[in-house]
Amino acid sequence: MTRAYDDILQQAGDLAERTIDFRRRLHRRPEIGLQLPKTQEAILAEIGDLGLEVRTGTSTTSVTAVLEGTSDGPTVLLRGDMDALPLTENTGLAFTSEVDGVMHACGHDTHVAMLAGAARLLADRRAEIAGRVVFMFQPGEEGFHGARHMLDEGLLDTTGQRPTGAFALHITSMFGSGTINTRPGPLLASADTIRMTVQGKGGHASAPHYANDPIPVACEIVIALQTMVTRRIDIFDPAVVTIAHVTAGTTDNVIPATASLEGTIRALSAETRGRVHELLRQVAQGIGSAHGMQVEVDIEAGYPVTVNDDDFASSVHALAGQMLGADRSCVMDTPIMGAEDWSYVLQEVPGAMAFLGACPPDLEPDTAPGNHSNLVVFDEAALSTGVATYAAVALDTLAR
Ligand SMILES: [Zn+2]
Ligand SMILES: [Zn+2]
Repeated sequence: MTRAYDDILQQAGDLAERTIDFRRRLHRRPEIGLQLPKTQEAILAEIGDLGLEVRTGTSTTSVTAVLEGTSDGPTVLLRGDMDALPLTENTGLAFTSEVDGVMHACGHDTHVAMLAGAARLLADRRAEIAGRVVFMFQPGEEGFHGARHMLDEGLLDTTGQRPTGAFALHITSMFGSGTINTRPGPLLASADTIRMTVQGKGGHASAPHYANDPIPVACEIVIALQTMVTRRIDIFDPAVVTIAHVTAGTTDNVIPATASLEGTIRALSAETRGRVHELLRQVAQGIGSAHGMQVEVDIEAGYPVTVNDDDFASSVHALAGQMLGADRSCVMDTPIMGAEDWSYVLQEVPGAMAFLGACPPDLEPDTAPGNHSNLVVFDEAALSTGVATYAAVALDTLAR
């Protein structure tokens, strides 16, 4: 069905000033983790006049708000994450972070502002909503499993009806401003943390045969893991294993008793993820045992693979094409090996995530400072596109 997308764009445009103002207020006061009391307070104030049914989290400072339509129908879930990162902003923006060592460098401030804008836009169109829209304001995306906390607190049963669709936007400076970029299937990788300790025996550096030196063994493990990835993992269902932190020893003439390795595992399917876990232990412990050493391997599970529902992602792509023009709706050639806890929601509800391009007009997407950089700047002109996309996806999902 073709909607009056022009009306939605117009409405989002009318809200642009408000959206940008809210975003800037959030940007000045970033908070980290699962407890974001100031951000929560700002959201409650911003959506307070919309007639939504609002609930706050118990284990986190999440906000779940429900817009009931005027007739019955399905439920759709829209999400914006709320948290910032521990780094010092160096953008020189007029509304730069006022909190030392904390910055909204992943653009979650824009997500909150756009989701609040979409709530206002949709509340204004309540009469045409058959069903309901759940707005999920989520803390703790940056490694704190905030979405998992909200699911455990009954997010999907908030209204008594499970959502039939779920949608999230992520802003990025990697794509041209005002574009919507998504793909069917895997969008983002799983991300697990590896910690390994190679247990050798310390001694004098001049007499290694009296000791058992864990350093060459640790080095051998690092190299062997790269061989493992290229020789034993299907290149069309890939994985990345990076050992990013190597520590051993204290000085030049002492063989240490242990060496430790830390790194990350990324994969695009649950199968490859599981296989890497298994092979990594086999390789590390096998090499250790070849040299008479124990290797302790600890793999801490992070976020699962973010998998877009094929039909849902295709609908988002088609809708964005109709609303914004075909040149502003792009299918991504490949997934991105970053990770998202939106993956937990997509394990339960058919839905998608799309990237909202927001590269500033004076920079190039390929070279602009990226998300998580202390220099990253997002083009605020893209925010009304985000508001319109959230709203249009909700209306189309309810009408489907
Ligand atoms: Zn991030
Ligand atoms: Zn993010």
